Amino acid sequence: MSSNFPLNKSQLDNLINDFPTPFYLYDEAAIRENMRKFTKAFSIFPVFREHFAVKACPNPYILKILAEEGCGADCSSLPELMLSEMAGIKGKKVIFTSNETPAAEYQFAYDRGNIINFDDITHIDYFKKNVGKLPDTVCFRYNPGAEKQGCNSIIGKPEESKYGLTREQIFEAYKICKSEGVKHFGLHTMVASNELNPAFFVDTAKLLFELCAEIKEKCGVRIEFVDLGGGLGIPYKPEQKAVDYDEVAKGIRAEYDRVVVPNDLDPLEIYWECGRPITGPYGWLVTTAIHEKHIYREYIALDACMADLMRPGMYGAYHEVTVSGKEDAPKTKVYDVVGSLCENCDKFAVQRALPEIKMGDHVIIHDAGAHGRAMGFNYNGKLRCGEILMRPDGTFKEIRRKETINDLFATLDLDGVKNF
Ligand SMILES: *Cc1c(COP(=O)(O)O)cnc(C)c1O
Repeated sequence: MSSNFPLNKSQLDNLINDFPTPFYLYDEAAIRENMRKFTKAFSIFPVFREHFAVKACPNPYILKILAEEGCGADCSSLPELMLSEMAGIKGKKVIFTSNETPAAEYQFAYDRGNIINFDDITHIDYFKKNVGKLPDTVCFRYNPGAEKQGCNSIIGKPEESKYGLTREQIFEAYKICKSEGVKHFGLHTMVASNELNPAFFVDTAKLLFELCAEIKEKCGVRIEFVDLGGGLGIPYKPEQKAVDYDEVAKGIRAEYDRVVVPNDLDPLEIYWECGRPITGPYGWLVTTAIHEKHIYREYIALDACMADLMRPGMYGAYHEVTVSGKEDAPKTKVYDVVGSLCENCDKFAVQRALPEIKMGDHVIIHDAGAHGRAMGFNYNGKLRCGEILMRPDGTFKEIRRKETINDLFATLDLDGVKNF
């Protein structure tokens, strides 16, 4: 587990008196402290910026905290652009790394002066045709294909992925944009997901830096920023180790000195668009055990389900599970910890050694602060839970309420059905 739950049993019991489970809890102080560490590590570059991947935790309160820590936003849809704007993240601090983008969404980002990161060479013409002209600043998403190996199973092999431009296309794309009068250029790639090996990111940076040099030589275009994408992992499993930000930054700095400086590309701005390491370890899904079943296996059922946290059911992802007040109790039981969805993959933990769980115990699912509530859904008529922020002074603020049945039925024409 990468971060400890911040409340002891009596503190949590008090909170649950005010806010019944299930809910997400986020720790503002821990988010800020982590962000400061991340920023400090990358302060060895002339210009560095993290653009928080909004999809990981699309709540404007969280975005505002991150904005105060100097972050921009990485968006891939109109609502994500709107959320960033609500949080006061504006202009070039927003990078629009979308794919298969509708014209109206490009227009919205263009009108606000956001950085447009094109996912394909044909999007140059699509943009011109629909928006009228190209932006002053253009970024392209590079897909290295077979050039980049060792990518893990969540993101898959680059040559099988739908994203980005090929190597030949990337040179062509910069040439076209240069001839169209575009003034500022960036280069982006994203080839990892939940990767814990620092060397992987150093290698990605090397690949981008070398490509910048080649683009300069072949196209006469000076890239002003590289965006290393997201994909920095977190240690979901107890035996895994957190990525050392300093090690990644120093490794990338060595490549910067080797490639960027001698090719006269310095200062080259370094951007990330991480989501998972920024909020993941500092959010928890807090639940209550409501049923136990003793059949071929021992089951503990929670008042939350896969509709609140999809990762275990979808990817078989591991999330640490603890029981409030029993953190140090011996793990004498082996349970499947499950939710109420009519899908057998709705299991937060499978054959997990845990302390004995009594009905009414509060069960905490760890590392749920990114791609947690955000990936929730309403299948089976499930209502997604709310979100609570623990402020640095120890007070709590509900930053998203639970869904209600009225929310679920809001899109139905209930008057129409009476006369149907
Ligand atoms: C999902 C995504 C991210 C964030 O990924 P994390 O694993 O949460 O860091 C960044 N950029 C793009 C384009 C993405 O699709």
